[in-house]
Amino acid sequence: MPTQVHDRTTFSTDRGAPWCRGCGHADLFNVLCRAFAASGVRPTDVVVVTGVGCSSLITFQLRSYAMHGVHGRALPLALGVKAANPDLHVVVAGGDGDAFSIGANHLIHTARKNPRLTYLIMDNQSYGMTRGQPSPTDVHGTNHPLNALGVLLAAGATFVAQTASWRPDEAEALIGQALSHPGFSVVNLLSPCPTFHHGEGIDGAIGIPLVREIGSEHDVGDRLHALSVAFAEGVPCVGLLYRVERPMYALTEGSALAHEPWKETAILETVLDEHRVVWT
Ligand code: SF4
Ligand code: MG
Repeated sequence: MPTQVHDRTTFSTDRGAPWCRGCGHADLFNVLCRAFAASGVRPTDVVVVTGVGCSSLITFQLRSYAMHGVHGRALPLALGVKAANPDLHVVVAGGDGDAFSIGANHLIHTARKNPRLTYLIMDNQSYGMTRGQPSPTDVHGTNHPLNALGVLLAAGATFVAQTASWRPDEAEALIGQALSHPGFSVVNLLSPCPTFHHGEGIDGAIGIPLVREIGSEHDVGDRLHALSVAFAEGVPCVGLLYRVERPMYALTEGSALAHEPWKETAILETVLDEHRVVWT
């Protein structure tokens, strides 16, 4: 039987794109489809889990399994999917608000535990779906911006990269590397929101913002140097910032829910009973 060849259209439905003209998320959706195709996975082996927001609309565009979750809770949902079937390629996607505001608690503890998940954060420094309020990564407002890469490095993510929607080849390559990483891999993807987010930074007046490439002299296993690159003044850095291997979080081994938990409701009920709270 001939080997099936996948291309971008394998993973893309023919529904019309739901994003505004010029939105970086549309470009990143195409990049993700290309990265999936290049990695050799089949749509039936992939589950994409999102939170809520403009970026999370990719679940409705993908030709794969997908779960559109609730705001900020994509990571625990994804962990549940991975625990139920560790053979699946589970990719989490969402926006900067989802990742670094309401979902920040989940993000730092997932990074610390290092499960085999890939997280793609489409960072436009704003809440586009609710008309552009500043998110924690916004660099224009009066609040001090959160350094996305610094948080990921400090929390213990074992693969940290950043690129942008206007650098599609680099984005495809970094997402491909993230998909094959044995641990928690995160790619922060700068993605303009031309409808609501204006000013310097990722969607400046000239349209294409400046970035600085992480030099080849940087050792991707050196976390302290990676932090210094992440916190350096000036325009955002792009490239692979950090990659190491360490033991992955065992999602099922030794767990009462190991192996086909959907058939083990009795065990589940026992576990739930153990944690029951009785009000008196
Ligand atoms: Fe994209 Fe902004 Fe439009 Fe949302 S509001 S689809 S983030 S351009
Ligand atoms: Mg956003």
